[in-house]
Amino acid sequence: MSVSWLTVHSVTVRDDLRALEGYHSPQIDVRIRLNTNEAPTPPPAAWRDAFAAELSRVEWHRYPDRSASALRSAIADSHNVRSDQVFAANGSNEVLQTLLLAYAGSGRRVVTFEPTYQMHGHIARLTGSTVVENERGPDFRLDAGAAVGLIREIRPAVTFLCSPNNPTGLVEPADNVRAVLAAQPGLLVVDEAYGQFADWSALTMVDESTPLVVTRTFSKTWSMAASRLGYVVGPSWLVAELDKVALPYHLDAAKQIAGRLALQFTDDMDARVDQIVFERERIAAALHSLTLDVFPSGANFILFRAHNRPGRQVWQELLDRSILIRDCSGWPRLADCLRVTVGTPEENDEFLAAIREIVQ
Ligand code: PMP
Repeated sequence: MSVSWLTVHSVTVRDDLRALEGYHSPQIDVRIRLNTNEAPTPPPAAWRDAFAAELSRVEWHRYPDRSASALRSAIADSHNVRSDQVFAANGSNEVLQTLLLAYAGSGRRVVTFEPTYQMHGHIARLTGSTVVENERGPDFRLDAGAAVGLIREIRPAVTFLCSPNNPTGLVEPADNVRAVLAAQPGLLVVDEAYGQFADWSALTMVDESTPLVVTRTFSKTWSMAASRLGYVVGPSWLVAELDKVALPYHLDAAKQIAGRLALQFTDDMDARVDQIVFERERIAAALHSLTLDVFPSGANFILFRAHNRPGRQVWQELLDRSILIRDCSGWPRLADCLRVTVGTPEENDEFLAAIREIVQ
């Protein structure tokens, strides 16, 4: 008699994972893709050629440099820090995961201020941490006094700030970061995935005696979302702990080369950032002129809300024109909100023409 395997196995997912949902951002084939805050253009041709040349010399039968030393030292040079103050991983999401595995986890608390990047809470939960979600004000700004009070009460192992914040675009004022840092007993993580587009960076606050780290990514400014590379800058004693948590050889040879070479094109990347900031301001002004609610952004995207139409409908009507933006309208605290990534000037023109047609 055969018994179905499915009926007898006792493989059950962890109880605390059962209620969690994965990451959902539709990957739809459209003409204009402005939904995931990527760079609108590929890296420079000279980077591509240098990358191809180095790839041809990789010893593919050997494991890559486990400590990614050339990459780390190039990143360190770009921020004027030591290479033992830099840890790199497969996208800044993996950096966040490594930080949480090392400093949060079962029996420890992680604090977020919502709305913010959903993966902070999600990855923290995956690591078994207890997530305490706090609220920002209705304008999505942090009430630093209230935040300090909460942190003193909750005593988290890890506190997250995100500057510029995703999905709101708001830059966290330096005074808020200082206040939270002074109040909190654990580690403060400032996620600066969009840091290059903002007018200040918490990197200036990193030093050996401060429990603060700043995370960054190559996915946005460096036009390298396909490569999956991010990093954290922090005290060397903390980076040493992260090295214990990371899997051996987790950064493949191609990625190490890609990141190291990208840092040789800083002028090019700075020019791209300037162009994106210019376009961001142009889009924001145009959305304002349509009397939409537009949240001030220091990132490469803008959060906005129409008064006269449900957000979901506006999103769908854009999609009907083959323009994909991020529908945040169903997310907690973000009723009717939509988020558009700054694209090329031509893409932005098309987006603006479409939104004008839809809301007027
Ligand atoms: N942090 C924030 C705030 C983000 O928006 C993103 C990407 N959406 C990430 C981290 C992760 O970026 P990546 O893993 O591509 O480096």
